[in-house]
Parts: sequence; structure tokens; C-alpha cells
Amino acid sequence: MTITREQIRELADFQDEKSCAISFYFQPSTPRNKAHKEDTILIKDLVREALRNLESKGKKDCARADMDRILRLSAELRSNGTHAKALFACSAQNIWHEYDLPANLSNTQLFVDRHFHLKPIAHLVGASPLLGVVLVDRQRARIFELRMDELIEREDLFHSLPRRGRSDGFAGYDGGHAQRRVEDEARQHFKNVAEVLKDLLEKGVFEKWILACQDAHRSMLDPQLHSYVSQALIGHFHADLGHISHDEIRTHAQAIVERWQADRRHELVTQALSQARSNGRGVTGLRRVLRSLELGEIQTLLIGETLQSHAIECPGCGHIDAHLVSYCPACGRATQEIVDVGEAILPWVIRRDIETFYVKEDPEFDKVGNIAALLRFRSDNIQPISTAVADELGRAGAAYPGRLRRFASR
Ligand SMILES: [Zn+2]
Repeated sequence: MTITREQIRELADFQDEKSCAISFYFQPSTPRNKAHKEDTILIKDLVREALRNLESKGKKDCARADMDRILRLSAELRSNGTHAKALFACSAQNIWHEYDLPANLSNTQLFVDRHFHLKPIAHLVGASPLLGVVLVDRQRARIFELRMDELIEREDLFHSLPRRGRSDGFAGYDGGHAQRRVEDEARQHFKNVAEVLKDLLEKGVFEKWILACQDAHRSMLDPQLHSYVSQALIGHFHADLGHISHDEIRTHAQAIVERWQADRRHELVTQALSQARSNGRGVTGLRRVLRSLELGEIQTLLIGETLQSHAIECPGCGHIDAHLVSYCPACGRATQEIVDVGEAILPWVIRRDIETFYVKEDPEFDKVGNIAALLRFRSDNIQPISTAVADELGRAGAAYPGRLRRFASR
């Protein structure tokens, strides 16, 4: 089973007061034939280390059953070598979820904590649009959904269109042209496809899409597309609808998505840094980013892959602070130290559906603290607000970020 955004959001909301929430990520090692045994040994080591760690905190028992189950699972994981796996468990709360992932995790990892660790899948929420791949020729159309490395045909999406000529088992939309008025019918066909696309984007079935067709057909579809649909198009590849294979479609589409994401990441980093320099809609550095996060200002979050910063978290109100203070400045409760702030902020980020990109080896980004954000607004720049409201924000802004939203200029 692959994981959905909704499931990731639920995982982000989960908390175990006893800190026995287990997150296990399995990345099959290569070459596969040699590595079976190594994978098993690695998992055994990780489990042993985690249990030793828990024992030192006097709570080995809470994770024992789940750990045993993970060890049993490791034999099964060996045989399914092509997929990576994410597993979230907390036997005390009766939770055990397994998901298949594309085999491109950085490594096999095991965490036991108050929250589930979601960093390896956070990009699936924030920076991966719901993506449609549309194949079209003069007469027919097919729509696929690309979810991670899975390509799924969606016949159901043509339900609003009249269908003819489907006797050959063709799964998409077939306009089935009569011999006469062929040009008119082709135009009507492309118009129908454009309408379906507009509808799908408006309903949020897809957020971005990729077009696959012959060049001649592209010039017939283009004029029919609503401008909003054209803007959501992230790339095109050449395809003969009758002959292209499932794997070819997926490979082309994935290459386009990866290029689009890389371009977007680069553009956003450049924008955030320059906006921060001019005190505009950008901030850099952990302290400032945390503040903007709590104020609900952030539109896009950029985190260095190597960001490893200590901070504190308040178990009462959830406030996270880069100052290692013993008591929460927002509500006064005793704070807990967190070792990986990049992980600790993810529940906030996921809950608010903030677009998130991980930034790799960028010296300029590293210089500003390995974390930055683009803001949808900047609360300290909002004008005009009355003094009374400003006072209220000053007092309660950090604890009640929702109040600021009323003043958000999107
Ligand atoms: Zn607090």
C-alpha cells in the first residue's frame, strides 16, 4: 500500500506521552543478491540499539512487542527487495501501519520517540503535487495518476463524456469519429478533453499535469485549454497513444516531475534569500523561521538536508524554541529538549500543508543557517492595524497564531 497525504497528516498528529512511537524505514541495499543477509543484520543491530536506549530510560517494555514484530518482518522484507518500506507502530495505542515507498531512501532507520519521524516522507505532502498524465490523439484520450513511482490509469475521470467505440478494450475516452465532419469532430474531441481537465483541476483531483501526444495534436489541444489549465501544465513528452507502454509513460513523467521540482527548489531558495536580505517576504535562520512558523506566515519552507540543530519543545502548547530555555515562554510549562529540530517542526508543517523542500549542499544556504522560508505575508509589515490589535498580537501572537490569519494578505 502506498501512503496518501491524509495518512501522513494523521501520522503527524499522533503523539505518545510515553515516547514509544516507533518509526521504521527500510531501504533495500544493492546489489540485492549479496545484501540479503546484511539487511537482516542491520535491522537486528538497529533494534538492539533502540532497546538498549529505551532500557537506559527505564522503559524497555513499551516497545518490546513492536520490535519483535519488526525482526520477524525483516525476513519478509528481504524477499520483496524492490520496494522501500515505512512502518509506524505503537502497540500501546494499537497502531501498526506499513507502507511501500520508492526505493530511494537515504538508508534504513529506526526511531523511537514521542512523535512519528516523518522526514523521509515529508516531501510527499509539501512538494509533490497531485499529478495527472494525459495522453491524447485526434480521437482518444487516457488519463493517469502519478503517485510516487506508481502510475494508475483513471478511466473513471471521463464519466461525463459520451463514449463510443470501446470494443477493443481501450480504457480511456474514445470520441469515435464518423467519417464525415472529421475536422469538426476532432475539434469537439479536444474541447471535451480540455473541459475534463479544467474540471479535474478545479475539483482538486490534480494540481499539476503532464501532456503526452504528437506535436500536431498539441497545437490542436493548446487553443482549447483554459489559461488556468495551461498554467498547471509542467511538461510535455512525445507519445503515440496506441503504442506507448505503461513503463515508458511513467519514466517520461517522472523525469519531468524531477526536473520541475529541481527548478522550483532552486528558484525558491534564490527568492527566499533575496527577500530575506531586503526584509521582504523571506526569512532565514532557525530562530526567525520558527517564529514565522508559529505566526502562520510561511508559504514555503526550505530545510537543509544536513540541518541538525538542538531546540526545546513545550509539551503543553507545542511551542518550539531555538533558545534552550527550561520553561515555555508562551505558557510556562517545563520544556523538553529536542535533538533534531528539522524533524520536530514537521507536524506543524504537515498540518498546515506548507510546501517543503529539502536543500542539498548549497554553500550560500548553509551560510544563512541551513533553513529559510518564503512568507505569504509578514506580520510585522502589515499596515494599518490598530494599536489595540497590535498589543493583542504582541501578547498572544506566539500562542495563538490563528488570530493573525485574519490579517493575512494572500
Ligand atoms: Zn507552552
